[in-house]
Amino acid sequence: MHVETLEFQSEARQLLQLMIHSIYSNKDTFLRELVSNASDALDKLRLETFRDKDLTADISDLHIAIEADEEQHTLTVRDNGIGMTRDEVVELIGTIAKSGTAEFLRKLKESDQQQDLIGQFGIGFYSTFMVADKVTLVTRHPHAAEGVRWESSGESTYTIDAVADAPQGTSVTLHLKPVDADDQLPDYTAKGKITEIVKRYSDFITWPVRLGEETINSRKALWARSSSDVTDEEYAEFYRHISHDWNSPLETFRMQAEGTFEYQALLFIPSQAPMDLFMRERKRGVQLYVKRVFIMDDCEALMPEYLRFVKGVVDAQDLSLNVSREILQQDRQIQLMRRRLVKKVLSTVKTMMTEKPDNYATFWRELGGAVKEGLLSDVENRESILAISSFASTNSPDDLTTLKQYVERMKDDQQHIYFMTGDSRATIENSPHLEALRAKGFEVLILTDAIDEMWVEAVPQFEGRQFQSIAKGQVDLETEEEKSATSEREKDFADLLAWMTTSLSEHVKQVRLSSRLTTSAACIVGDQHDLTPTLEKMYRAMGQ
Ligand code: ADP
Ligand code: MG
Repeated sequence: MHVETLEFQSEARQLLQLMIHSIYSNKDTFLRELVSNASDALDKLRLETFRDKDLTADISDLHIAIEADEEQHTLTVRDNGIGMTRDEVVELIGTIAKSGTAEFLRKLKESDQQQDLIGQFGIGFYSTFMVADKVTLVTRHPHAAEGVRWESSGESTYTIDAVADAPQGTSVTLHLKPVDADDQLPDYTAKGKITEIVKRYSDFITWPVRLGEETINSRKALWARSSSDVTDEEYAEFYRHISHDWNSPLETFRMQAEGTFEYQALLFIPSQAPMDLFMRERKRGVQLYVKRVFIMDDCEALMPEYLRFVKGVVDAQDLSLNVSREILQQDRQIQLMRRRLVKKVLSTVKTMMTEKPDNYATFWRELGGAVKEGLLSDVENRESILAISSFASTNSPDDLTTLKQYVERMKDDQQHIYFMTGDSRATIENSPHLEALRAKGFEVLILTDAIDEMWVEAVPQFEGRQFQSIAKGQVDLETEEEKSATSEREKDFADLLAWMTTSLSEHVKQVRLSSRLTTSAACIVGDQHDLTPTLEKMYRAMGQ
Protein backbone atom coordinates (compact mmCIF):
# COMPACT_ATOMS: atom_id res chain seq x y z
CA MET A 1 0.00 0.00 0.00
CA HIS A 2 1.03 3.57 -0.70
CA VAL A 3 2.92 5.29 2.14
CA GLU A 4 2.99 9.07 2.13
CA THR A 5 5.59 11.13 3.93
CA LEU A 6 4.39 14.53 5.12
CA GLU A 7 6.04 17.38 6.94
CA PHE A 8 4.99 18.76 10.29
CA GLN A 9 3.91 22.36 10.24
CA SER A 10 6.70 24.53 11.62
CA GLU A 11 5.23 25.33 15.03
CA ALA A 12 4.41 21.68 15.50
CA ARG A 13 8.03 20.86 14.65
CA GLN A 14 9.32 23.26 17.28
CA LEU A 15 7.03 21.85 19.91
CA LEU A 16 8.09 18.29 19.06
CA GLN A 17 11.75 19.20 19.37
CA LEU A 18 10.98 20.50 22.82
CA MET A 19 9.29 17.28 23.79
CA ILE A 20 12.07 15.05 22.45
CA HIS A 21 14.71 16.97 24.35
CA SER A 22 12.43 17.68 27.24
CA ILE A 23 13.93 18.44 30.57
CA TYR A 24 10.44 18.51 32.00
CA SER A 25 10.56 16.18 34.94
CA ASN A 26 6.93 15.19 35.13
CA LYS A 27 7.00 12.79 32.18
CA ASP A 28 4.18 10.65 33.62
CA THR A 29 1.71 13.17 32.28
CA PHE A 30 1.89 11.69 28.76
CA LEU A 31 -0.47 8.94 29.93
CA ARG A 32 -2.96 11.44 31.31
CA GLU A 33 -3.00 13.11 27.87
CA LEU A 34 -3.65 9.86 26.03
CA VAL A 35 -6.41 8.76 28.41
CA SER A 36 -7.97 12.21 28.26
CA ASN A 37 -8.04 12.13 24.44
CA ALA A 38 -9.48 8.62 24.48
CA SER A 39 -12.19 9.70 26.91
CA ASP A 40 -13.12 12.66 24.70
CA ALA A 41 -13.29 10.31 21.70
CA LEU A 42 -15.72 8.01 23.53
CA ASP A 43 -17.92 10.94 24.58
CA LYS A 44 -18.00 12.14 20.98
CA LEU A 45 -18.97 8.74 19.57
CA ARG A 46 -21.82 8.29 22.02
CA LEU A 47 -23.15 11.73 21.18
CA GLU A 48 -22.89 11.10 17.44
CA THR A 49 -24.95 7.95 17.72
CA PHE A 50 -27.72 9.87 19.55
CA ARG A 51 -27.80 12.47 16.83
CA ASP A 52 -27.17 10.41 13.73
CA LYS A 53 -29.39 7.36 13.55
CA ASP A 54 -27.61 6.09 10.43
CA LEU A 55 -24.29 5.82 12.16
CA THR A 56 -23.42 2.17 12.51
CA ALA A 57 -20.98 2.03 15.35
CA ASP A 58 -20.89 -0.43 18.20
CA ILE A 59 -21.42 1.42 21.47
CA SER A 60 -22.15 -1.63 23.62
CA ASP A 61 -18.78 -1.68 25.37
CA LEU A 62 -17.12 1.71 25.11
CA HIS A 63 -13.87 1.70 27.06
CA ILE A 64 -10.17 2.49 27.14
CA ALA A 65 -7.64 -0.34 27.15
CA ILE A 66 -3.99 -0.02 28.10
CA GLU A 67 -1.71 -2.76 26.84
CA ALA A 68 1.90 -3.11 27.90
CA ASP A 69 4.40 -5.30 26.06
CA GLU A 70 7.49 -5.76 28.18
CA GLU A 71 9.49 -7.59 25.53
CA GLN A 72 8.92 -5.08 22.75
CA HIS A 73 9.04 -2.29 25.33
CA THR A 74 5.85 -0.73 23.94
CA LEU A 75 2.79 0.75 25.54
CA THR A 76 -0.56 1.05 23.74
CA VAL A 77 -3.59 3.12 24.69
CA ARG A 78 -6.64 2.00 22.73
CA ASP A 79 -10.18 3.33 22.60
CA ASN A 80 -13.22 2.29 20.56
CA GLY A 81 -14.45 5.88 20.18
CA ILE A 82 -15.03 8.27 17.29
CA GLY A 83 -11.64 7.85 15.58
CA MET A 84 -10.34 10.17 12.89
CA THR A 85 -10.53 10.37 9.11
CA ARG A 86 -7.30 10.74 7.14
CA ASP A 87 -7.82 14.48 6.79
CA GLU A 88 -8.48 14.82 10.50
CA VAL A 89 -5.27 12.99 11.32
CA VAL A 90 -3.28 15.39 9.14
CA GLU A 91 -5.07 18.40 10.53
CA LEU A 92 -5.24 17.46 14.20
CA ILE A 93 -1.97 15.62 14.66
CA GLY A 94 0.26 17.14 11.97
CA THR A 95 -0.68 20.74 12.65
CA ILE A 96 -0.93 22.61 15.87
CA ALA A 97 -4.24 24.35 15.85
CA LYS A 98 -4.11 25.03 19.55
CA SER A 99 -4.60 28.68 20.26
CA GLY A 100 -1.66 30.19 22.05
CA THR A 101 1.04 27.86 20.72
CA ALA A 102 2.99 30.64 19.05
CA GLU A 103 2.75 32.70 22.22
CA PHE A 104 3.83 29.71 24.28
CA LEU A 105 6.90 29.05 22.12
CA ARG A 106 7.90 32.68 22.28
CA LYS A 107 7.63 32.73 26.08
CA LEU A 108 9.53 29.50 26.30
CA LYS A 109 12.47 30.90 24.37
CA GLU A 110 12.66 33.90 26.66
CA SER A 111 12.28 31.98 29.89
CA ASP A 112 14.79 30.07 31.93
CA GLN A 113 11.97 28.27 33.71
CA GLN A 114 11.02 26.02 30.85
CA GLN A 115 9.87 23.22 33.12
CA ASP A 116 7.07 25.17 34.68
CA LEU A 117 5.91 26.54 31.37
CA ILE A 118 5.71 23.14 29.72
CA GLY A 119 3.74 21.89 32.69
CA GLN A 120 1.32 24.77 32.35
CA PHE A 121 0.77 24.56 28.65
CA GLY A 122 -0.85 21.16 28.31
CA ILE A 123 1.04 19.64 25.47
CA GLY A 124 -1.48 17.00 24.53
CA PHE A 125 -0.64 14.26 22.09
CA TYR A 126 2.93 15.45 21.48
CA SER A 127 3.84 14.79 25.10
CA THR A 128 4.23 11.14 24.05
CA PHE A 129 7.59 12.12 22.55
CA MET A 130 8.93 12.79 26.04
CA VAL A 131 8.95 9.05 26.61
CA ALA A 132 8.87 7.42 23.16
CA ASP A 133 11.25 7.53 20.22
CA LYS A 134 8.57 6.37 17.82
CA VAL A 135 4.78 6.68 18.00
CA THR A 136 2.28 4.76 15.86
CA LEU A 137 -1.35 5.79 15.75
CA VAL A 138 -3.99 3.66 14.01
CA THR A 139 -7.49 5.03 13.72
CA ARG A 140 -10.78 4.63 11.91
CA HIS A 141 -13.73 6.99 11.77
CA PRO A 142 -17.17 5.29 11.60
CA HIS A 143 -17.90 6.94 8.22
CA ALA A 144 -14.61 5.83 6.67
CA ALA A 145 -14.31 2.54 4.81
CA GLU A 146 -10.72 2.01 5.86
CA GLY A 147 -8.43 3.09 8.64
CA VAL A 148 -5.29 5.25 8.73
CA ARG A 149 -1.86 4.58 10.17
CA TRP A 150 0.21 7.59 11.28
CA GLU A 151 3.77 7.12 12.37
CA SER A 152 6.58 9.41 13.41
CA SER A 153 9.77 9.60 15.38
CA GLY A 154 8.98 13.23 16.14
CA GLU A 155 11.60 14.63 13.77
CA SER A 156 10.44 16.82 10.90
CA THR A 157 8.21 14.30 9.10
CA TYR A 158 5.54 11.68 9.63
CA THR A 159 4.12 8.96 7.42
CA ILE A 160 0.52 8.15 6.62
CA ASP A 161 -0.90 5.05 5.00
CA ALA A 162 -4.19 3.22 4.77
CA VAL A 163 -5.10 0.21 6.90
CA ALA A 164 -7.75 -2.08 5.44
CA ASP A 165 -9.02 -3.74 8.59
CA ALA A 166 -8.59 -1.19 11.39
CA PRO A 167 -10.97 -1.63 14.33
CA GLN A 168 -13.33 1.14 15.42
CA GLY A 169 -11.59 3.95 17.30
CA THR A 170 -7.96 4.80 17.87
CA SER A 171 -4.89 3.09 19.22
CA VAL A 172 -1.68 4.89 20.06
CA THR A 173 1.42 2.76 20.47
CA LEU A 174 4.54 4.18 22.06
CA HIS A 175 7.90 2.62 21.30
CA LEU A 176 9.36 3.61 24.64
CA LYS A 177 12.82 5.06 25.15
CA PRO A 178 15.09 2.84 27.28
CA VAL A 179 14.51 2.96 31.02
CA ASP A 180 16.85 5.59 32.49
CA ALA A 181 16.71 6.56 36.14
CA ASP A 182 18.87 9.67 35.61
CA ASP A 183 16.57 10.97 32.96
CA GLN A 184 13.49 10.20 35.08
CA LEU A 185 12.32 7.53 32.69
CA PRO A 186 10.85 4.67 34.72
CA ASP A 187 9.59 1.43 33.21
CA TYR A 188 6.22 2.47 31.83
CA THR A 189 5.33 -1.12 30.97
CA ALA A 190 5.18 -2.00 34.67
CA LYS A 191 1.64 -2.63 35.86
CA GLY A 192 2.20 -0.87 39.15
CA LYS A 193 3.46 2.26 37.44
CA ILE A 194 0.57 2.39 34.97
CA THR A 195 -2.03 1.86 37.69
CA GLU A 196 -0.46 4.54 39.86
CA ILE A 197 -0.50 7.13 37.07
CA VAL A 198 -4.08 6.39 36.00
CA LYS A 199 -5.32 6.59 39.57
CA ARG A 200 -3.50 9.83 40.16
CA TYR A 201 -4.57 11.67 37.03
CA SER A 202 -7.55 9.93 35.49
CA ASP A 203 -9.53 8.28 38.24
CA PHE A 204 -12.69 10.33 37.56
CA ILE A 205 -12.83 9.41 33.85
CA THR A 206 -16.34 8.00 33.50
CA TRP A 207 -15.32 5.32 30.98
CA PRO A 208 -13.60 2.19 32.22
CA VAL A 209 -9.82 2.25 31.85
CA ARG A 210 -8.74 -1.38 31.63
CA LEU A 211 -5.35 -2.91 32.17
CA GLY A 212 -5.72 -6.51 31.11
CA GLU A 213 -8.96 -7.73 32.67
CA GLU A 214 -8.95 -5.20 35.44
CA THR A 215 -10.63 -1.78 35.50
CA ILE A 216 -8.16 0.51 37.25
CA ASN A 217 -10.11 3.77 37.63
CA SER A 218 -12.97 4.21 40.10
CA ARG A 219 -15.07 6.05 37.45
CA LYS A 220 -16.88 8.04 40.08
CA ALA A 221 -18.00 11.45 38.95
CA LEU A 222 -16.51 13.93 41.41
CA TRP A 223 -19.74 15.86 41.72
CA ALA A 224 -21.54 12.70 42.77
CA ARG A 225 -19.11 12.05 45.62
CA SER A 226 -19.48 13.76 48.96
CA SER A 227 -17.32 16.89 49.13
CA SER A 228 -15.39 15.65 52.13
CA ASP A 229 -14.16 12.66 50.07
CA VAL A 230 -12.65 14.66 47.26
CA THR A 231 -9.17 16.14 47.60
CA ASP A 232 -8.09 19.48 46.14
CA GLU A 233 -5.68 17.60 43.90
CA GLU A 234 -8.54 15.52 42.47
CA TYR A 235 -10.57 18.64 41.78
CA ALA A 236 -7.56 20.27 40.14
CA GLU A 237 -6.97 17.24 37.86
CA PHE A 238 -10.61 17.22 36.86
CA TYR A 239 -10.46 20.93 36.17
CA ARG A 240 -7.44 20.38 33.90
CA HIS A 241 -9.25 17.59 32.06
CA ILE A 242 -12.32 19.67 31.23
CA SER A 243 -10.71 23.08 30.77
CA HIS A 244 -7.40 22.19 29.10
CA ASP A 245 -5.91 24.83 31.39
CA TRP A 246 -2.90 23.45 33.20
CA ASN A 247 -2.95 25.83 36.13
CA SER A 248 -4.89 25.01 39.25
CA PRO A 249 -8.28 26.69 39.54
CA LEU A 250 -8.55 29.79 41.71
CA GLU A 251 -11.80 28.64 43.26
CA THR A 252 -13.80 25.41 43.25
CA PHE A 253 -17.42 25.23 44.34
CA ARG A 254 -20.41 22.96 44.17
CA MET A 255 -24.16 23.27 44.12
CA GLN A 256 -27.07 20.96 44.15
CA ALA A 257 -30.82 21.07 43.94
CA GLU A 258 -33.28 18.38 44.78
CA GLY A 259 -36.99 18.09 44.09
CA THR A 260 -38.77 18.46 40.80
CA PHE A 261 -35.70 19.50 38.85
CA GLU A 262 -32.70 17.79 40.28
CA TYR A 263 -29.15 18.74 39.36
CA GLN A 264 -25.61 18.92 40.63
CA ALA A 265 -22.98 21.40 39.61
CA LEU A 266 -19.22 21.48 40.06
CA LEU A 267 -17.81 24.83 39.01
CA PHE A 268 -14.38 26.42 38.78
CA ILE A 269 -13.05 29.93 38.48
CA PRO A 270 -9.72 29.91 36.62
CA SER A 271 -6.66 31.67 37.98
CA GLN A 272 -5.75 33.11 34.59
CA ALA A 273 -7.84 34.72 31.89
CA PRO A 274 -8.40 32.19 29.08
CA MET A 275 -6.64 33.15 25.83
CA ASP A 276 -9.93 33.73 24.04
CA LEU A 277 -11.62 35.79 26.77
CA PHE A 278 -12.04 38.82 24.55
CA MET A 279 -12.15 37.13 21.17
CA ARG A 280 -15.20 37.00 18.99
CA GLU A 281 -15.26 33.20 18.80
CA ARG A 282 -14.87 32.79 22.54
CA LYS A 283 -16.34 29.83 24.30
CA ARG A 284 -18.43 29.47 27.37
CA GLY A 285 -17.04 26.92 29.70
CA VAL A 286 -19.74 24.87 31.34
CA GLN A 287 -20.40 21.31 30.20
CA LEU A 288 -23.80 19.73 30.40
CA TYR A 289 -24.25 16.14 31.54
CA VAL A 290 -27.51 14.28 31.88
CA LYS A 291 -27.42 11.52 34.50
CA ARG A 292 -23.61 11.23 34.29
CA VAL A 293 -23.63 11.17 30.49
CA PHE A 294 -21.69 13.93 28.75
CA ILE A 295 -24.05 15.89 26.48
CA MET A 296 -22.28 19.06 25.35
CA ASP A 297 -19.40 21.45 25.81
CA ASP A 298 -19.74 25.23 26.04
CA CYS A 299 -23.37 25.13 27.01
CA GLU A 300 -24.39 28.77 26.54
CA ALA A 301 -27.79 28.24 28.13
CA LEU A 302 -26.13 27.67 31.49
CA MET A 303 -23.96 30.75 31.90
CA PRO A 304 -24.36 34.30 30.70
CA GLU A 305 -21.75 35.76 28.36
CA TYR A 306 -20.08 37.85 31.06
CA LEU A 307 -19.34 34.77 33.17
CA ARG A 308 -17.92 32.87 30.19
CA PHE A 309 -14.70 32.11 32.07
CA VAL A 310 -16.48 29.87 34.60
CA LYS A 311 -15.64 26.22 33.88
CA GLY A 312 -17.27 23.10 35.15
CA VAL A 313 -20.02 20.59 34.87
CA VAL A 314 -23.76 20.72 35.41
CA ASP A 315 -25.39 17.31 35.65
CA ALA A 316 -29.17 17.42 35.33
CA GLN A 317 -31.32 14.41 36.15
CA ASP A 318 -34.51 15.18 34.27
CA LEU A 319 -33.47 16.11 30.76
CA SER A 320 -33.65 13.96 27.68
CA LEU A 321 -30.31 12.65 26.42
CA ASN A 322 -30.84 14.14 23.00
CA VAL A 323 -31.74 17.59 24.22
CA SER A 324 -30.61 20.29 21.79
CA ARG A 325 -29.14 23.75 22.33
CA GLU A 326 -32.36 25.31 21.02
CA ILE A 327 -34.53 23.43 23.49
CA LEU A 328 -32.22 24.34 26.35
CA GLN A 329 -32.42 28.05 25.54
CA GLN A 330 -36.19 27.96 25.97
CA ASP A 331 -36.55 25.57 28.87
CA ARG A 332 -37.93 27.28 31.98
CA GLN A 333 -36.21 24.91 34.40
CA ILE A 334 -32.90 25.59 32.69
CA GLN A 335 -33.49 29.31 33.00
CA LEU A 336 -34.17 28.95 36.72
CA MET A 337 -31.07 26.85 37.12
CA ARG A 338 -29.01 29.42 35.28
CA ARG A 339 -30.25 32.18 37.59
CA ARG A 340 -29.17 30.15 40.60
CA LEU A 341 -25.79 29.36 39.06
CA VAL A 342 -25.16 33.04 38.37
CA LYS A 343 -26.06 34.02 41.91
CA LYS A 344 -23.80 31.29 43.22
CA VAL A 345 -20.83 32.52 41.15
CA LEU A 346 -21.37 36.10 42.33
CA SER A 347 -21.74 35.12 45.98
CA THR A 348 -18.64 32.94 45.76
CA VAL A 349 -16.61 35.92 44.57
CA LYS A 350 -18.16 38.06 47.31
CA THR A 351 -16.98 35.61 49.94
CA MET A 352 -13.56 35.43 48.29
CA MET A 353 -13.22 39.20 48.71
CA THR A 354 -13.32 38.99 52.48
CA GLU A 355 -11.86 35.56 53.07
CA LYS A 356 -9.13 35.39 50.42
CA PRO A 357 -8.31 38.96 49.38
CA ASP A 358 -5.23 37.90 47.39
CA ASN A 359 -7.30 35.47 45.34
CA TYR A 360 -9.87 38.16 44.80
CA ALA A 361 -7.15 40.53 43.55
CA THR A 362 -6.05 37.87 41.04
CA PHE A 363 -9.65 37.27 40.04
CA TRP A 364 -10.30 40.91 39.36
CA ARG A 365 -7.04 41.51 37.50
CA GLU A 366 -7.59 38.52 35.20
CA LEU A 367 -11.36 38.46 34.77
CA GLY A 368 -12.76 41.80 35.94
CA GLY A 369 -12.92 43.13 32.38
CA ALA A 370 -15.45 40.44 31.47
CA VAL A 371 -17.40 40.77 34.73
CA LYS A 372 -18.03 44.48 34.11
CA GLU A 373 -19.90 43.57 30.91
CA GLY A 374 -22.54 42.17 33.26
CA LEU A 375 -23.29 45.69 34.52
CA LEU A 376 -24.86 46.26 31.12
CA SER A 377 -26.37 42.88 30.39
CA ASP A 378 -27.54 41.60 33.75
CA VAL A 379 -29.77 44.24 35.27
CA GLU A 380 -31.17 41.85 37.85
CA ASN A 381 -27.76 41.31 39.43
CA ARG A 382 -26.38 44.78 38.90
CA GLU A 383 -25.97 45.60 42.59
CA SER A 384 -24.17 42.29 43.24
CA ILE A 385 -21.85 42.88 40.32
CA LEU A 386 -21.07 46.40 41.52
CA ALA A 387 -20.36 44.96 44.95
CA ILE A 388 -17.67 42.62 43.58
CA SER A 389 -16.10 45.22 41.28
CA SER A 390 -12.92 47.18 41.95
CA PHE A 391 -11.66 50.38 40.38
CA ALA A 392 -8.61 52.55 40.27
CA SER A 393 -9.09 55.87 42.01
CA THR A 394 -7.29 59.02 43.08
CA ASN A 395 -7.14 57.54 46.57
CA SER A 396 -4.09 55.41 45.74
CA PRO A 397 -1.70 55.14 42.81
CA ASP A 398 -1.54 51.34 43.08
CA ASP A 399 -4.44 49.87 44.99
CA LEU A 400 -7.90 49.46 43.59
CA THR A 401 -10.95 50.35 45.60
CA THR A 402 -14.36 48.78 45.93
CA LEU A 403 -17.37 51.07 45.84
CA LYS A 404 -18.13 50.25 49.45
CA GLN A 405 -14.66 51.46 50.45
CA TYR A 406 -15.12 54.57 48.32
CA VAL A 407 -18.40 55.39 50.03
CA GLU A 408 -16.82 54.94 53.45
CA ARG A 409 -14.18 57.54 52.55
CA MET A 410 -16.71 60.06 51.18
CA LYS A 411 -16.56 63.53 52.73
CA ASP A 412 -19.56 64.74 54.74
CA ASP A 413 -20.52 67.31 52.11
CA GLN A 414 -19.99 64.89 49.19
CA GLN A 415 -23.17 63.80 47.40
CA HIS A 416 -22.01 61.65 44.53
CA ILE A 417 -19.56 59.00 43.47
CA TYR A 418 -17.32 60.92 41.09
CA PHE A 419 -15.56 59.31 38.16
CA MET A 420 -13.73 60.19 35.02
CA THR A 421 -13.24 57.98 31.98
CA GLY A 422 -10.27 58.21 29.65
CA ASP A 423 -7.51 56.44 27.80
CA SER A 424 -5.09 56.21 30.67
CA ARG A 425 -4.56 57.10 34.27
CA ALA A 426 -2.05 59.77 33.26
CA THR A 427 -4.46 61.64 30.96
CA ILE A 428 -7.13 61.61 33.61
CA GLU A 429 -4.80 62.77 36.34
CA ASN A 430 -3.54 65.63 34.18
CA SER A 431 -7.02 66.68 33.26
CA PRO A 432 -8.14 70.12 34.47
CA HIS A 433 -11.50 68.56 35.38
CA LEU A 434 -9.86 66.97 38.36
CA GLU A 435 -8.63 70.17 39.95
CA ALA A 436 -11.67 71.35 41.87
CA LEU A 437 -12.36 67.88 43.21
CA ARG A 438 -8.81 67.53 44.30
CA ALA A 439 -9.04 70.88 46.04
CA LYS A 440 -12.09 69.69 47.93
CA GLY A 441 -10.46 66.40 48.81
CA PHE A 442 -13.08 64.40 46.89
CA GLU A 443 -11.98 61.05 45.53
CA VAL A 444 -12.47 60.31 41.83
CA LEU A 445 -12.68 56.87 40.20
CA ILE A 446 -10.29 56.52 37.30
CA LEU A 447 -11.97 54.42 34.61
CA THR A 448 -9.80 53.44 31.67
CA ASP A 449 -11.37 50.26 30.22
CA ALA A 450 -13.41 50.58 27.04
CA ILE A 451 -16.30 48.86 28.82
CA ASP A 452 -16.27 51.54 31.54
CA GLU A 453 -17.48 54.10 29.03
CA MET A 454 -20.57 52.03 28.49
CA TRP A 455 -21.60 50.89 31.92
CA VAL A 456 -21.35 54.36 33.44
CA GLU A 457 -24.01 55.42 30.93
CA ALA A 458 -26.31 52.60 31.99
CA VAL A 459 -25.82 52.32 35.73
CA PRO A 460 -27.27 55.25 37.66
CA GLN A 461 -26.17 54.55 41.21
CA PHE A 462 -24.61 52.38 43.86
CA GLU A 463 -26.44 52.04 47.16
CA GLY A 464 -28.33 55.25 46.57
CA ARG A 465 -25.29 57.32 45.53
CA GLN A 466 -25.30 58.57 41.99
CA PHE A 467 -22.40 58.11 39.65
CA GLN A 468 -21.34 61.53 38.40
CA SER A 469 -18.87 62.18 35.62
CA ILE A 470 -16.59 65.07 36.46
CA ALA A 471 -16.22 65.88 32.77
CA LYS A 472 -19.92 66.49 32.21
CA GLY A 473 -22.63 69.02 33.07
CA GLN A 474 -22.63 71.02 36.26
CA VAL A 475 -20.57 69.32 38.86
CA ASP A 476 -22.20 70.70 41.95
CA LEU A 477 -19.39 71.37 44.34
CA GLU A 478 -20.35 74.74 45.73
CA THR A 479 -21.90 75.62 49.05
CA GLU A 480 -24.87 78.05 49.15
CA GLU A 481 -22.54 80.92 49.99
CA GLU A 482 -20.19 80.14 47.14
CA LYS A 483 -23.17 79.89 44.82
CA SER A 484 -24.39 83.36 45.52
CA ALA A 485 -20.84 84.66 45.11
CA THR A 486 -20.63 82.97 41.74
CA SER A 487 -23.92 84.41 40.54
CA GLU A 488 -22.70 87.87 41.59
CA ARG A 489 -19.56 87.33 39.59
CA GLU A 490 -21.58 86.02 36.67
CA LYS A 491 -23.40 89.34 36.55
CA ASP A 492 -20.07 91.17 36.49
CA PHE A 493 -18.82 89.02 33.66
CA ALA A 494 -22.12 88.75 31.74
CA ASP A 495 -20.98 90.88 28.83
CA LEU A 496 -17.68 89.11 28.48
CA LEU A 497 -19.31 85.64 28.64
CA ALA A 498 -21.91 86.59 26.06
CA TRP A 499 -19.24 87.90 23.76
CA MET A 500 -17.12 84.78 24.19
CA THR A 501 -20.10 82.50 23.58
CA THR A 502 -20.82 84.28 20.29
CA SER A 503 -17.22 84.34 19.11
CA LEU A 504 -16.72 80.67 19.94
CA SER A 505 -20.15 79.55 18.79
CA GLU A 506 -18.71 77.23 16.16
CA HIS A 507 -16.85 75.33 18.83
CA VAL A 508 -18.82 75.45 22.08
CA LYS A 509 -22.45 75.80 23.16
CA GLN A 510 -21.88 78.17 26.02
CA VAL A 511 -19.12 79.86 27.99
CA ARG A 512 -19.63 79.75 31.77
CA LEU A 513 -17.80 80.85 34.86
CA SER A 514 -16.73 77.83 36.81
CA SER A 515 -15.51 76.85 40.21
CA ARG A 516 -14.06 73.64 38.83
CA LEU A 517 -10.64 74.99 38.20
CA THR A 518 -8.06 76.14 40.64
CA THR A 519 -4.92 76.53 38.55
CA SER A 520 -5.96 76.08 34.89
CA ALA A 521 -7.54 79.09 33.17
CA ALA A 522 -10.27 77.26 31.28
CA CYS A 523 -11.52 73.80 30.37
CA ILE A 524 -14.05 72.26 28.02
CA VAL A 525 -16.89 70.29 29.59
CA GLY A 526 -19.52 68.12 27.98
CA ASP A 527 -23.25 68.47 28.46
CA GLN A 528 -24.82 66.01 30.89
CA HIS A 529 -26.03 63.86 28.02
CA ASP A 530 -23.13 64.29 25.64
CA LEU A 531 -20.80 61.49 24.77
CA THR A 532 -17.62 61.40 26.77
CA PRO A 533 -14.51 62.45 24.82
CA THR A 534 -13.31 58.84 24.62
CA LEU A 535 -16.65 57.51 23.39
CA GLU A 536 -16.79 60.36 20.90
CA LYS A 537 -13.37 59.26 19.64
CA MET A 538 -14.53 55.63 19.47
CA TYR A 539 -17.61 56.51 17.43
CA ARG A 540 -15.57 58.74 15.16
CA ALA A 541 -13.07 55.94 14.60
CA MET A 542 -15.99 53.69 13.71
CA GLY A 543 -17.02 56.27 11.09
CA GLN A 544 -20.17 57.49 12.79
P1 ADP B 1 -6.39 18.57 22.73
O1 ADP B 1 -6.86 17.28 23.32
O2 ADP B 1 -6.10 19.60 23.77
O3 ADP B 1 -7.28 19.06 21.62
P2 ADP B 1 -4.26 16.93 21.76
O4 ADP B 1 -2.90 17.23 21.23
O5 ADP B 1 -4.31 16.06 22.97
O6 ADP B 1 -4.96 18.31 22.06
O7 ADP B 1 -5.12 16.26 20.63
C1 ADP B 1 -5.33 16.92 19.40
C2 ADP B 1 -6.58 16.44 18.70
O8 ADP B 1 -6.40 15.15 18.13
C3 ADP B 1 -7.78 16.26 19.64
O9 ADP B 1 -8.47 17.48 19.83
C4 ADP B 1 -8.64 15.26 18.86
O10 ADP B 1 -9.43 15.91 17.90
C5 ADP B 1 -7.60 14.42 18.14
N1 ADP B 1 -7.38 13.18 18.89
C6 ADP B 1 -6.35 12.90 19.72
N2 ADP B 1 -6.48 11.66 20.25
C7 ADP B 1 -7.63 11.15 19.75
C8 ADP B 1 -8.33 9.89 19.91
N3 ADP B 1 -7.89 8.93 20.73
N4 ADP B 1 -9.47 9.71 19.21
C9 ADP B 1 -9.94 10.69 18.39
N5 ADP B 1 -9.35 11.87 18.21
C10 ADP B 1 -8.20 12.11 18.87
MG1 MG C 1 -5.78 16.17 24.59
